[in-house]
Amino acid sequence: MPNFPFIRHAAGAALAACALAGLSSCAYNEELGRSQLAIIPASQMSSLGATAWADVNKKEKVSTDPKYVSRLNRVAPKILRAAGENPRNWDYRVFDSKQLNAFALPGNHFAVYTGLMDLMANDDQLATVIGHEVGHVRANHGGERVSQQLGTNFALGAAQQAIGAGSQTGQAALGALGVGAQYGVLLPFSRKHELEADRLGVIYMNRAGYDPNEALKFWTKMSAAGGAKPPEFASTHPSDATRIEQIRDVIATLPPRGR
Ligand SMILES: [Zn+2]
Repeated sequence: MPNFPFIRHAAGAALAACALAGLSSCAYNEELGRSQLAIIPASQMSSLGATAWADVNKKEKVSTDPKYVSRLNRVAPKILRAAGENPRNWDYRVFDSKQLNAFALPGNHFAVYTGLMDLMANDDQLATVIGHEVGHVRANHGGERVSQQLGTNFALGAAQQAIGAGSQTGQAALGALGVGAQYGVLLPFSRKHELEADRLGVIYMNRAGYDPNEALKFWTKMSAAGGAKPPEFASTHPSDATRIEQIRDVIATLPPRGR
């Protein structure tokens, strides 16, 4: 996968990017209470997500083990309803793999791997992960990230053209548009997006009647898993002191469970 170092610098620069791209490409996300860059229409993000979902499903083995599947089918609809979603509009499954992993895609798809589920002590900890992943989708983090990439690539191309870098740059920018869009949905989320997904996830799980304190236990366990080399899900989902601290703060503001 090509490496575009400037993508990382774009994270968190939504406001500046909104000003750059014009207000029409900004959208207010009620769930987040902030504006975000949204160059790509939701319908296009959904089809991008559907393509990625079909691709991953070809590569992974879908688990039919009731030990995992019935747990997912028990918890997922409750979290989705708590998030204001209709579970029927979502496609979710368990992948049979030792990976400590879970992910969500635009267009209402998510998957949890058996390896990660083996680490979960109870339904509340599964609710933590599902809440977090559904939070990413409700927050349109995928759309925001791809928009940031497109915006940055466009800005970079324009700047280099202005200083006479030649037509090669234009080609590279075009390539980046295609490739960026292709891979955008599977790139790790930024720190800011992670914290937002954590916050939404904890709110949803509490609303669904699960114990939000289990989120603290789960993320603490994730940061310990893997030792020196953190597992994939932990490395793309940093389980550090900031994250734990924020979850503690969110828990302190929550209404009684189930509301
Ligand atoms: Zn995440």
